[in-house]
Formats: sequence, C-alpha cells, structure tokens
Amino acid sequence: MGLKCRDCSKEYPPIIQYICPNCFGALDVIYKDLDKIDFNPEKISRRGKDLWRYIELLPIEDPANIISLGAGFTSLLKSSKLSNSLNLKKLYLKEDITNPTHSFKDRAASVAISKALEFKLNAVGCASTGNLAAATAAHASRAGLPCYIFAPVGVEREKLSHALSYGARIVLVEGTYDEANWIASRFAEEHNVGIVNVNIRPYYVEGSKTLAFEICEQLGWRSPDHIIIPMASGALLNAIDKGLNELKTLGLIDGDVRISGVQPEGCSPIVSAYREGREYIKPVRDINTIAVSLAIGNPGDGVYALRTIHRTRGTAVSVTDQEILGAVRDLARLEGLFIEPGGAVTIAGLRKMVEERLIEKDEEIVCLLTGSGLKTPHIIQHYVPQPFIIKPSIGELKKMLEVEKLA
Ligand SMILES: *Cc1c(COP(=O)(O)O)cnc(C)c1O
Ligand SMILES: [Zn+2]
Repeated sequence: MGLKCRDCSKEYPPIIQYICPNCFGALDVIYKDLDKIDFNPEKISRRGKDLWRYIELLPIEDPANIISLGAGFTSLLKSSKLSNSLNLKKLYLKEDITNPTHSFKDRAASVAISKALEFKLNAVGCASTGNLAAATAAHASRAGLPCYIFAPVGVEREKLSHALSYGARIVLVEGTYDEANWIASRFAEEHNVGIVNVNIRPYYVEGSKTLAFEICEQLGWRSPDHIIIPMASGALLNAIDKGLNELKTLGLIDGDVRISGVQPEGCSPIVSAYREGREYIKPVRDINTIAVSLAIGNPGDGVYALRTIHRTRGTAVSVTDQEILGAVRDLARLEGLFIEPGGAVTIAGLRKMVEERLIEKDEEIVCLLTGSGLKTPHIIQHYVPQPFIIKPSIGELKKMLEVEKLA
C-alpha cells in the first residue's frame, strides 16, 4: 500500500500527507499488485455485514487497529412507486442512513480513525458541514482519542449536540465551511492530530469507496448503468469512481458506469463549472441552501469530480430548495424513507435529469441517500400538516374526525 498523486502519478509511502509535494495534486491510496489481490466474492460473502468485509482493499496494515461501530452494508432498495412516478424501470435507492450516526460519513470516519491509531496520533478531528462531526466524534470515542471539530456557525444545532454527546470539543468558526477547514488544517500542521478530511484525507475517502463495492455486491457482483451522488467537496463522487475502477481492475465488474453529481442551487460551484464548460471551479461566497451538509463554496475535490463526470459521460445538475423539499416528501410518502435535504438532492436531481432527457428510460440507476432526516427534524414542518391538539374528550375526538372527514 502507498500513496499516488492523481495529477503527476508520483508515488509515496503511506505517510501522513494529502497534497503532492511535487505538483500540489491530491494523493490517493494505491494497493500493490491490485490485480493479484485475493478479493474473493465467495469469501467476502461469509464475512460480517459492515464495510470491513472489504479489508483487502482498505488501507489498514494491522487489523488490531480497526475501529468499527458497524458502519456499512446498508440496504439497496428497489424503488417501485417513486420509479413509476418518474416513468423509470430500474431505480435503486442506496439508503445509507442506518449507519451508527445515520450518515455515510461513518464509513469514512471508521477508516480514517483506524488509520489515526495506526499512525499513533494523539488526537483526531475534522472540518465539518454537519454530518462528519458526529461520525468522527463517535469513532474517536470508541478509539479513546480526544476529538476536535471545526464547523461554521451555520451548522444545524441537532448535529452539534449529537457530536457533543460523544465528548468532542467543538470550535464554531464565524465564517464559511472553507474558513473552518482552513483553521482545521492550520491546527493539524501544528499538532500531532489526524484531521480526518484534511491531513489523513487519502485514508478517509477509502471508507466512502466501500459504497461502490456494496452496490456491486448487492447487485450480484455487477455494476449498475448510472450512479447519482450528492456533491459538497466532490470527495464522495471520486471515491465511488475509485471503488468501481478497483473492481474493474480485479475483473469483478465490466460495464461502464455513468457517474453524475447533484448540488443545491444555492451552493453549486461544481455544477456551474460543468454547465459553463469550465475546467476550473469558481468558489461561491454567498451560500444559501437548506441542504447545509452540502454547503462547501470552494470544493477541494471539485476539479477531480468534474473530470470524473466528463470521463464517465455522467452529468451534473443543481436543484432548488423547493425541489429538494419535494424529494424529501416523495421519499417519505412513496418509499417510507426519511432523508435529510443533503441526501435527498439525488432524487430531486434525478427528476430534473428525467425532465431534461439526460437519462434513458431503461437505464439501471442507483441514487445515493446519504443522511437521515432525523438529523434535520425541523425541515418536515415545510411539508406536513400540524398535529391536532385536543382535550381528552369524545366530543373533541369527533370534531377532529369531522375535520378529517373520517366520521
Ligand atoms: C458530506 C456529505 C456528502 C458528500 O460530501 P463530499 O464532500 O462531496 O464528499 C453527501 N451527503 C451528505 C448528507 C453529506 O453529509
Ligand atoms: Zn503530483
């Protein structure tokens, strides 16, 4: 195992480094003689139902360092009502919300914190748009490491309480996520800490990659035609692509997969670059969206996400807050899934792709649903009626039933 630059291909040993000293490109984990690794579906099928079933393709040398709360192996549900409403034939929903802290970030945190133990770091932390906070804090607590979280003041209070419950220290930065991230990276430079999505980022994204492995395993070791992914920094989208490429190299899947990304209109720097045919990202300063977990104005992996979307002939769309709320409602009412706005953007984006004929009717599509609605309970008030409040009397119950026309 080692690190390799995405841009100049220079290789490094597996150290604490995330930017190529040669060209400033991003570093990825690579596995020696990948095509010869014994990554056997039959053997994997007999293992525990969490992401560590893919251990051969995870960057940990000594399994004694593994910190697991059971993240991974979430359901891949076949949609029927929602797919009918969109006139699609094969739509799957990867409900990645039954993880320990209810978002896909548990995958990344589990791997990054295991690696922090392997590096013998004194503490861990993260820069967070909300969900990474609880994921990092929970796994840090399990590992017995102190945890420092840097977040912009605008992050949802519920998510902060969740992270605080595990004993994390939270630093709220009066500014944007990008400013919180900058402070976190300064902190990492001066202390012996692993900031999971900054200085040990190459290991962090390896956790997210397991979503691609799971989707293919759950389809019977084959790939779907198209995967639709929410984008903040663009890291998840690239991680999915990396996972698929590794399975291809191993000969476990063959087809080409279109990879598409969705952002909220109020913070869509990657989608604007795609739409305007640019190869670079113009950072967004005035951020305004209910999908707070996707609010990154200057996405670190944006340029790479753009390249992945182009190379795989995917597409990129942005969706309004109204469209996101519509998707949250549809997922709950048609599929029984309560998803947070940042996770539901993929369904809003799918609807737009169908309307704009960017999708073939018989494509086999997987939409990622990356965070639970329980993390943003306030958003339901936008689309549900208020509860009835009555006195404990038959008369009042009858009045209520009349209003509901149930009498
Ligand atoms: C973090 C997050 C993402 C993806 O973020 P990237 O920075 O692009 O990896 C997607 N959905 C939710 C709910 C998230 O919290
Ligand atoms: Zn380089």
